[in-house]
Amino acid sequence: RATLGVMGGGQLGRMFVHAAQRLGYFTAVLDPDAQSPAGLVSHHHIQTDYNDPAGLAQLADLCQAITTEFENVPAQALQTLAQTRPVAPGAAVVGIAQDRIEEKAHFAACADISGVTCAPYAVIETPAQLQAIQENRADLLPGILKTARMGYDGKGQVRVKTAHELAAAWAELGSVACVLEKMLPLTAECSVLVARGWDGQVVSYAPQRNVHVAGILAVTHAYEGAMPPALATSARDAAVAIAQHLGYVGMLCVEFFVVNDGSAHGGLVVNEMAPRPHNSGHYTLDACNASQFDLQVHAMAGLPLPQPRQHSPAIMLNLLGEVWFDASGQQREPDWQAVLSLPGTHLHLYGKAEARPGRKMGHLTITGPDVASVKTVARRAAGLLSLPGLDTI
Ligand code: ATP
Ligand code: MG
Ligand code: MG
Repeated sequence: RATLGVMGGGQLGRMFVHAAQRLGYFTAVLDPDAQSPAGLVSHHHIQTDYNDPAGLAQLADLCQAITTEFENVPAQALQTLAQTRPVAPGAAVVGIAQDRIEEKAHFAACADISGVTCAPYAVIETPAQLQAIQENRADLLPGILKTARMGYDGKGQVRVKTAHELAAAWAELGSVACVLEKMLPLTAECSVLVARGWDGQVVSYAPQRNVHVAGILAVTHAYEGAMPPALATSARDAAVAIAQHLGYVGMLCVEFFVVNDGSAHGGLVVNEMAPRPHNSGHYTLDACNASQFDLQVHAMAGLPLPQPRQHSPAIMLNLLGEVWFDASGQQREPDWQAVLSLPGTHLHLYGKAEARPGRKMGHLTITGPDVASVKTVARRAAGLLSLPGLDTI
């Protein structure tokens, strides 16, 4: 049997491994952590640093093809692997997605075919650029200063209202390369999952609507009507155009903002992209004929991509570490008995031993015969677990 490899051993890698195994593949995970969620369930776990030449050689030796699940896997390591094995997505596109400055430049470069632009922004890499923005770009305030690299789940971001706060925020972030983005009045957020094969075949899912709390995804709504139909079509077309323009191979997630600006494109603004399956696509495991991880496996292995079809309306609730603590701060196991007695609940836990606030420990997807019953159950589950975002369901 052939072996498929993945750089990174987090929960996305774990769900990739499950999907690969279902098709009869062996898997190899490269991750330095002995207890990594994917390493624990994989045939091979190469427990070493992402840049370790010996580890990379071992991964390439074992595997027919290699993918990534970790946003910040060194692009150079993917480059090395690509010398001997198919790597999807490739180092160049992963490198673009890892750097907000390059990412925004790409979005701008394909705006004509995608029909969307990103939020107004400016690059800050030097004190001179900072000063110029303080003096000339009041239009970007209030704004969000984001590090160009390594940020996720709202980390590496500071909200700023004044030019003075901007300078303090840049210092706080270590004076590294950043983008200052204008704060937009969002009416909604959504994301689109696109898979593209080596032969250029493209499939996508309908956009799902995402609710973030404190910069972290809390709730995903995935059903017809979660987004207005015209916006949903524009977002899907835009994400496909972005993937094609990149020559992307594998699973790509493109995040969008919706603003109520009365513009021609319906106020759709592209936020960022993730070169891998995405938290907002976890509902596809329980609500679709093929999950985002199935498509990741098919794409990298050169198998035909199934046309994804959603068979049930779904809501996904993220389970962060907070759920494992009671009101007095005592750690305890959540009441799964109560949650799983609700109809249509699908519990996914990632096998992480230690719960910490903000840490993604698992997710709960609710499916059902219709949107109303899915919402009812989701509200009950969110209430039982004291989840954020309950009021938005
Ligand atoms: P992820 O975990 O999705 O990779 P991230 O840390 O890369 O997150 P962003 O997606 O840039 O961060 O921002 C996180 C959230 O902050 C967004 O989903 C949105 O809710 C809010 N946000 C970010 N930028 C803006 C903006 N320009 N205007 C309004 N809200 C914003
Ligand atoms: Mg991000
Ligand atoms: Mg994001």
